[in-house]
Amino acid sequence: MKLVVDLTRCQGYGQCAYFAPGVFRMRGNEVLMDNPEPDDDQRDRVLRAAAACPVQAIRIDGTVGGDAAAAAPAPALATAVPAQRTPSGIIATAVEAFRRNGRIVIVGASLAGLTAATVMRRDGFTGSITIIGEEQYQPYDRPPLSKQVFEGLIPASNTDLPGDVNARWLLGVPATGLDLPAKQVLLGDGSAVEFDRLLIATGTRARPWPNMTEAALDGVFVLRTRDDAAVLSQRLASRPRRVLVIGAGFTGSEVASACRDRDIDVTVVDRGPAPLAGALGEFIGNVAAGLQREHGVDLRCGVTVTALEGDDRGRLRRARLSDSSVVDADLAVVALGAIRNTEWLRGSGLAVGKWGVACDAGCRAFDVNGATTDNIFVAGDVARFPHPLYDYQFLALEHWGNAVTQAEIAGHNMVGGPGTRWPHLATPVFWSSQFGTSIKSVGVPTYADQLMIVQGSVPERRFIAAFGRSGRITAAVAFDQAMWLEFYQHLIETAQPFPPAFTAFGQPAGRPVPVTVPAQEIRDLQATVMVTGHDPGERRAELLYHDELGRPRHGPGQHFRPDSRPRQPGQSLSALRRATQDPGGQARRRHLCRQHLPRDRRVAARPAGRLRSPQPARGE
Ligand SMILES: Cc1cc2nc3c(=O)[nH]c(=O)nc-3n(C[C@H](O)[C@H](O)[C@H](O)COP(=O)(O)OP(=O)(O)OC[C@H]3O[C@@H](n4cnc5c(N)ncnc54)[C@H](O)[C@@H]3O)c2cc1C
Ligand code: SF4
Repeated sequence: MKLVVDLTRCQGYGQCAYFAPGVFRMRGNEVLMDNPEPDDDQRDRVLRAAAACPVQAIRIDGTVGGDAAAAAPAPALATAVPAQRTPSGIIATAVEAFRRNGRIVIVGASLAGLTAATVMRRDGFTGSITIIGEEQYQPYDRPPLSKQVFEGLIPASNTDLPGDVNARWLLGVPATGLDLPAKQVLLGDGSAVEFDRLLIATGTRARPWPNMTEAALDGVFVLRTRDDAAVLSQRLASRPRRVLVIGAGFTGSEVASACRDRDIDVTVVDRGPAPLAGALGEFIGNVAAGLQREHGVDLRCGVTVTALEGDDRGRLRRARLSDSSVVDADLAVVALGAIRNTEWLRGSGLAVGKWGVACDAGCRAFDVNGATTDNIFVAGDVARFPHPLYDYQFLALEHWGNAVTQAEIAGHNMVGGPGTRWPHLATPVFWSSQFGTSIKSVGVPTYADQLMIVQGSVPERRFIAAFGRSGRITAAVAFDQAMWLEFYQHLIETAQPFPPAFTAFGQPAGRPVPVTVPAQEIRDLQATVMVTGHDPGERRAELLYHDELGRPRHGPGQHFRPDSRPRQPGQSLSALRRATQDPGGQARRRHLCRQHLPRDRRVAARPAGRLRSPQPARGE
């Protein structure tokens, strides 16, 4: 059997551990460790544990979606419309036809992709669903990789997500391109899959060590996939002398925690002032630093790794740091954050940038002009979307909970008709467990400029910090106090004042302190946006990429003008691209291009990376 615990809801009460101790185990005060694939003889106990969970956080295979849902006939939308010949009747008939026989393609066979497909079936979609995944595995859960798997409690292969959705799975083959006019996803094996509606759920990948020769040393790893976790936990089991963790974000800190649990020496190096400071600010970061040092981590902040060195057999032996010190280590885990998997969308005409694919609150992707597309949707780590709670700024989140809730909205909206669509307005919730402590946040801590301890005690590392901005509470972070977060979520969602107008029982009156988020280093090697054209019919946004030296160069197909140059029947995408780059077209674009406009007509948007996007809470 397979299960997953929604740890955004779990409040660490521990009832599940009482009912099924072989499957659920509590560590410290509130950290829950579960086995996602327990033996079938545990089934009854797990069912009892799931029933006893006060917040219903345990999901078991067969309880959501599955074949039964797939077989359910689509509810007839059209019958609700009295006259089929009215415009709304025609739309409803078309929607119903799509729900019965439409073709949906999902690129990304992981948490968001599976969740969306499950919801589509639940909502009565009986057409075809094709799920394309670069990895060869059925969807699996990533959070246990740096926790249960690293601690040696379960093998990496025991992390499958529950859910058995009726779909055509194309696994082990990447999507390499998107041909919007032809409604085709191009695959790495040269084939193409046609769609009526597409969901982009390609998530992120680990940022590699920038020096390729050093990255190739035996013993240098990243952690994002099941394969990464399998080989890394094998190496940990062979007891390296010392593990070097580069980057003290959530992944790096969890890796360090697992090393200490296995009594392996570990050095953590981070260029920032404290662990987790990029996501939770310096104040909370200093609390996390204390936690790490108390557990025996050799933590070095404010320094960088300048070189990794190996022996004559190509095995990692040591690292040189910017403070001239040397760390002897035979295993290094590079935990420098994530890169959005968007390369396959270059030239597609969608609004793709450093922070992912921009979409509206209904998960519909923006094209490069910032207009919403009708049939392309985005969900999960690869999406960036406006959130009303945060001044409609675009959030780019790497949260398990966001991947689930956004995919649920996308799945629903993709198979519904106009007027039945939902906005993705969930307040971001994130968790991490490290050094026996449950760390959870609700809201976007980096959006705030002040925080205040409102419950508990920082020295005991059991507390809640409320975060605020402009007199409004915008986030809360809990160390081993998960049960209160729902209350703070309500305060955030109802725009309650900051500092809060109450004090918790027995709590000394607190005082706001600055959050102090370190500046995000932005390298403008990604796309920037510029706008060309004289009148509204001509104005278009264009993507302008930079090479390694920061010089601008045009990427393929960035002049996206589907209306001015429709694709002819039988014309291939490459032929279309050639046609759009003909001399006439070039001359026309030169005429419109920014340098040739009178000074007062030049309009250049700010670089995409500089749009004030709250830093992703898992950003390392
Ligand atoms: C080690 C680790 C620990 C984590 N711990 C936590 C935690 O404690 N709490 C928390 O809230 N979050 C955690 N996360 C984050 C969480 O796992 C992610 O937010 C979640 O996996 C996002 O799901 P997704 O489906 O959007 O993307 P992903 O899980 O990244 O899946 C995207 C999929 O798309 C595939 N893909 C990419 N490009 C292509 C292509 N061109 N063609 C076809 N397929 C493609 C990828 O191979 C991948 O399988 C953790 C992540 C990791 C790696
Ligand atoms: S809240 Fe539910 S899942 Fe979490 S520890 Fe309690 S019983 Fe287990």
